[in-house]
Amino acid sequence: MTTTFAPYAADESRSRGRRIAEPPAAYRGEYQRDRDRIIHCTAFRRLVYKTQVFVNHEGDLFRTRLTHSLEVSQIGRSVAVALGLNEPLTEAICLAHDLGHTPFGHAGQDELNNCMRDYGGFEHNLQSLRVVDELEAKYAEFPGLNLMFETREGILKHCSAKNARLLGDVGERFINRAQPGLEAQLANLADAIAYNNHDVDDGFRAGLLSLEQLRTQSLFDVHYQEVHGLYPNLEDRRLIYEIIRRMIGTVVTDLIENTRRNLEAASPQSIDDVREAGETLVLMSGEVYEQHVALKRFLHTHLYRHEKKLEMTHKAQAIVRELFELYTRDVQQMPAEFSDRAVTADELGMTRVVADYIAGMTDRYAISEHERLIGKT
Ligand code: MG
Repeated sequence: MTTTFAPYAADESRSRGRRIAEPPAAYRGEYQRDRDRIIHCTAFRRLVYKTQVFVNHEGDLFRTRLTHSLEVSQIGRSVAVALGLNEPLTEAICLAHDLGHTPFGHAGQDELNNCMRDYGGFEHNLQSLRVVDELEAKYAEFPGLNLMFETREGILKHCSAKNARLLGDVGERFINRAQPGLEAQLANLADAIAYNNHDVDDGFRAGLLSLEQLRTQSLFDVHYQEVHGLYPNLEDRRLIYEIIRRMIGTVVTDLIENTRRNLEAASPQSIDDVREAGETLVLMSGEVYEQHVALKRFLHTHLYRHEKKLEMTHKAQAIVRELFELYTRDVQQMPAEFSDRAVTADELGMTRVVADYIAGMTDRYAISEHERLIGKT
């Protein structure tokens, strides 16, 4: 299927293709097909019950990993269209980027990584690739979703050289220090822009961040002053939203304009030129990037490590750790599709099966399995 994008965009006719060749779809492009496979997969549906920052049952209005992924995709697609990039590919990468996330957000990921310390560790980003390459079991002719190389390249955002050597073609760039395509670079930033902004919203709604605290951030304060000046009597909820939409507007506009400048200067003529460019081309300008990073740091200190969140973090860590200990002691406690693989595997393989099983759990499923098998925390 032919759609015209800029020369530096991913082009499916020159793709490195699928691991297992398939006949083309009749009415869809190959990256559209990837996006559709992602939306239909089991791991995608589970994102609705997985923590972004707040555990799913803490409130109905907070982001979940599903709504986060949709916001990432929305930002990614807008920028892709503005820059002439491949929009379906950008969308596919954005929707898939968190498929490998554990229950309970980063608390769950860190604890599972601790549990797996002697067995190769656990990293949610690598797990997202594992989900689409191996773990989804839906198609008769191949394991996983058999996605296009460029989609897989975009899902694998970071990776140690040690892990990269185990991943074949998609790991090569981490060894050769090459860049991924522009759609992958964009999805990575769309992720950070989305959470920086929605976490301000959720953190404020939860009462964990105050206006005074937020105003220490120049990106926030400049828009606070503007909105407050125009609408001095606006109630807090609308005030915050007006500020957030302006913050997203500022960062996204800067990202588009600065990336345009970078593309003009580097003038890549193909995705391979982009890969060899030696630096990331999709990027905000220096000043806006600094503000973006400052806000990211602020959220780490004041929201993600807020004392009111720590209690839930400790509970989540205990649930993950105790489930890991239980299943590795007695693999028969897992459903047959996992226990069958675990009984025939060596210790390394068995622990990986347990990690796959726990990583796939939603928050509420992990809580209920923990209650059923171990008792209330
Ligand atoms: Mg994300």
